[in-house]
Amino acid sequence: MAIDFSFPPEIDALRLKVREFVAAVVRPREAQIAAREGDRRFLIQSIIEMRVAAREWGLWLPHMPKEYGGMGLGHVAMAAVSAEAAKSGFGPYALNAQAPDEGNMHTLLHWATDEQKEKYLRPLCDGVVRSCFAMTEPEVAGSDPTLIQTRAVLDGDEWVVNGHKWFISGASGAKFAILIARTEDRPEIPQAANTAFIVDLPAPGWTVVRDVLTMAGHHNHAEIRIENLRVPRANMLGGRGQGHLLGQARLGPARLAHCMRWIGQAEIALDLMVDRALNRFAHGSLLADKQGIQWMIADSTMELYQAKLMVLHAAYRIDRGDDFRSEVSMAKHFVANALNRIIDRAIQVHGALGYSLDTPLARMAQQARWARFADGADEVHQWRIAQRTIDAYKRDRSTRVATGNLPL
Ligand SMILES: Cc1cc2nc3c(=O)[nH]c(=O)nc-3n(C[C@H](O)[C@H](O)[C@H](O)COP(=O)(O)OP(=O)(O)OC[C@H]3O[C@@H](n4cnc5c(N)ncnc54)[C@H](O)[C@@H]3O)c2cc1C
Repeated sequence: MAIDFSFPPEIDALRLKVREFVAAVVRPREAQIAAREGDRRFLIQSIIEMRVAAREWGLWLPHMPKEYGGMGLGHVAMAAVSAEAAKSGFGPYALNAQAPDEGNMHTLLHWATDEQKEKYLRPLCDGVVRSCFAMTEPEVAGSDPTLIQTRAVLDGDEWVVNGHKWFISGASGAKFAILIARTEDRPEIPQAANTAFIVDLPAPGWTVVRDVLTMAGHHNHAEIRIENLRVPRANMLGGRGQGHLLGQARLGPARLAHCMRWIGQAEIALDLMVDRALNRFAHGSLLADKQGIQWMIADSTMELYQAKLMVLHAAYRIDRGDDFRSEVSMAKHFVANALNRIIDRAIQVHGALGYSLDTPLARMAQQARWARFADGADEVHQWRIAQRTIDAYKRDRSTRVATGNLPL
C-alpha cells in the first residue's frame, strides 16, 4: 500500500520535541507574560529568551532552508511542527515561524533578487528584524485586490506612492514592509494592475495612524497613511504588474500555515472540553456521561479529524509540486469554521468558567473569529471551490478531481 499516514521517525521525534519545548519553555513564559499584561519590555525580553532557547533546542526557523539558518522542513513536516507550536500563542514566535514574517520569508525566498534576499530575508531569518505585508485598504473590499487604490508612479529612479492601508499586522516596529500598490493603468487583465515593493521602515511618507482596536484588543494591526513615499526602483519585488500573482502565491502556503496553527488551538479546546466534562457533576452524573455533551465532543472530534486530514493532504500536494489551490481553499474554509465551532462548544461545556478569562478559551474565541474572513473570506473560498467543481464536471463529466483528486 502506498498510503502511509505515519510520519518518518525523525519528523515524529521533532514533533514530540516541539511539544516538550512548548511545555518546558513557552508555557511558563506565557503565564508570566499574562501576569504582566501591558508590560511590553517584559514581552520582548521573553520572546528573545524563548528564541535563544529555541536555537539551543535545534528548533529555530523550521520552514526555511538550511542556507538561511533554517531546518529546511517541507509543508507536511511543518504541519506537525506548527500544530504543536501553536498550542501556545507564543510557540510560533519562539521558533520565528509567526505570521506575517513566515509568509514574507517564503515570498522573499521565491521572488526576491539575490541582493534583496541578503538585505531583507537574511535578517528576518536571523530574527533580528520584523516585517509586515501591506495590502488591505479601508476604502475598498480586501477580498478583491483588483480594487486596490494605493498608487505607485515612476519618477526617475524612484516610485512615488500614495494611498491608505489598514489591518497591517506587525507594522509598528517592522523594519520593512512588502507593499502592494497599483502601477498599471490599462493592464491586459485586472489581475495585472498591481506591483509589490519592499519599503524600508520607518520612512518619510509612511505614517502609522493608529493600532486598530479589535474585539481581541490591540495586536499591532495598524492603519497606515502613505503620502509621497519614495521607493527606489531596485526595491520592486517581482515584476511590474505581478503584485496579484505574488499575493496569491504568498497566500496559498500562508493560509495553510494558519490552518496548522489552528489545529493546535482546536486540539487545546477539545482537550479542555473533555477534561471539564470528566470533572463537572450535575443532575446525577458527570457531564461526560450526558448524551448532549457527548454529541459536542463527538462533533468536535470528527471535525478536528477532518481538519487534520485536509491540512495534511493539502501540505502533501504543495510538497509534491501539485496544484494545491483547491485543497488549500477547502482546508482554510473548513479548519477556520471547525476552530470556531470547537472553541464555542468548549466554552459551552465550561459554562461561566468558559466565559471568564480563567481559561484560555475566551481569548481563543476572540482570536478565532477573524479566521473566517481574513486571508480569504469563507464565501470567496466557497465561490472558488464551487467554480473548480463545476469546471471539473464540465471538462470530465465528473467532479472527482475537485474532491482532492484522491484515488477513490
Ligand atoms: C487579525 C487580522 C489581521 C490582518 N492582517 C493583515 C495584514 O497583515 N495585511 C493585510 O494586507 N491585510 C490584513 N488583514 C486584512 C484581511 O486580509 C482582510 O480583512 C480580508 O482580505 C477581507 O477584506 P475586508 O476586510 O476588506 O472585507 P471585504 O472584502 O469587504 O469582505 C467583507 C465580507 O464580504 C463578503 N464577501 C466578499 N466577497 C464576496 C464574494 N465574492 N461573495 C460573497 N461574499 C463576499 C464576505 O463575507 C466577507 O467577509 C487582516 C485582518 C485581520 C482581521
